[in-house]
Amino acid sequence: MNTESFNWEYAPAPEAKDHAKIKKQYDLFINGKFTKPLSKKYFATTSPSSLEKLAEVAEANENDVNAAVKAARVAYEKYWKKLTAKERGKYIFRIARIIQERSRELAVIESMDGGKPIRESRDFDIPNAANYFFYYAGWADKLEYAFPNKTPKSLGVAAQIIPWNFPLLMAAWKIAPALATGNTVVLKPAEGTPLTALKLAEIIQYADLPPGVVNIITGFGATGAAMVNHKDVNKIAFTGSTDVGKIIQKAVAGSNKKLTLELGGKAANIVFDDAPINQAVEGIVNGIFFNQGHVCCAGSRLFVQENVAEEVISKLKERMETLIVGDPLDKNTDIGAINSKEQLDKINSYLHIGKEEGLEIHQSNCNVPSKGYFCKPTLFIGASQSNRVVQEEIFGPVLTIQTFRTIEEVIEKANNIPYGLSAGVWTDKGSKIFNLTTKLRAGVVWANTYNKFDPTSPFGGYKESGFGREGGLHGLLPYITF
Ligand code: NAP
Ligand code: MG
Repeated sequence: MNTESFNWEYAPAPEAKDHAKIKKQYDLFINGKFTKPLSKKYFATTSPSSLEKLAEVAEANENDVNAAVKAARVAYEKYWKKLTAKERGKYIFRIARIIQERSRELAVIESMDGGKPIRESRDFDIPNAANYFFYYAGWADKLEYAFPNKTPKSLGVAAQIIPWNFPLLMAAWKIAPALATGNTVVLKPAEGTPLTALKLAEIIQYADLPPGVVNIITGFGATGAAMVNHKDVNKIAFTGSTDVGKIIQKAVAGSNKKLTLELGGKAANIVFDDAPINQAVEGIVNGIFFNQGHVCCAGSRLFVQENVAEEVISKLKERMETLIVGDPLDKNTDIGAINSKEQLDKINSYLHIGKEEGLEIHQSNCNVPSKGYFCKPTLFIGASQSNRVVQEEIFGPVLTIQTFRTIEEVIEKANNIPYGLSAGVWTDKGSKIFNLTTKLRAGVVWANTYNKFDPTSPFGGYKESGFGREGGLHGLLPYITF
């Protein structure tokens, strides 16, 4: 097929941003109020596409962390522990409803602050964030049915630390189950994408939650470390890199703190010769180019059965030509901005490594804005297990392609990696799917689809991808004791 036939020109379709209210400066949300940081320090959060400064946010130091944990402790003992489960559920339900009502503003701010396409923040991040609150609101007064013949008890104060790739959604994954099970919270968003978490603080204030039940503080890694090391924290929930996860696990060793770690990934997306090839190509594109590849469960390693490799690769290249890289606020955009300069540098260094390793590189011919941090969708063809681009997490729109002949070979290769978060399987045969779901060492295995999420379904990793589950009934367990 002639790829040029796909090169349609689209008129810009930017989402309005005048309705998105971003304050010039944000304080820390502690004890139900926005409070000046004891550190007296602020830092800027910028847009990775326009490079404009969006706001200044407070940098919490150890004293600020102490104040937030204290507020959470008092709220736990004074109100939250004593409240009936049904009342707790009502508050969580209210948060979900307000997120829905403000979804347009939240989506625009998410795309401005983090660079993801508006289509994605509007259709994926924000509705899912509301869904997780709705789902866990329902569990609040049904915990005894979730764990029959047991008496689930809350833990106390949960310290929660989240990354920059799905800011509001990760906040929802953390806060909703903690509140449903009767815990209070101190949450820290990543330094580069704090704005929707601060908007969530406004929502929580508006929902009239008792003061201190949820505290949202901003800062850098040191703020996260102070939360982890705080003596009066009962539970730590962390989503982020494997390196920081290891530091946290060491810090918590020997204490009574309960810990869940959701870490990196390097998922295998496996296409058999009996797969519906066009659907699989869509799934491959969705698996790795969705959110610029800033996805822990991204299908970043493609395995294609040898006899269909040529067809799959050629169709994939054609499809890549139609992808639009550009302004995150434009509704036509498929691939938005890379989240930060640091991340773009990291991706570029891997593009260099892949070339040095002798791999064939293929990038689409799209235009890329001259301002901001952008990366063209990229393939590394003819990759093998020993390549660094295959073994290490790149966290960008970069796909390595390997071929295989037998099912045993692909299982071996897919599992031969330090990570085990997710995988995808494309085949017409149900028996092959069942065979692979039992043998792939990955927390989630998608069959004939990719990157599908649902609050009722647990998510989490094996090996260096961490431990503990978020979502579903399983997602209640890290926040309770019996
Ligand atoms: P990161 O550098 O590990 O940061 C994650 C969070 O931890 C941020 O809020 C960060 O604060 C904070 N932090 C940094 N150093 C810390 C320390 N010593 N103690 C406590 N907290 C600390 O990860 P990232 O670069 O933001 O996110 C990308 C990574 O997250 C990828 O590896 C990806 O695979 C993983 N991820 C995993 C999942 C999952 O569910 N498994 C989901 C999404 C992302 P600052 O931002 O202020 O430094
Ligand atoms: Mg930002």
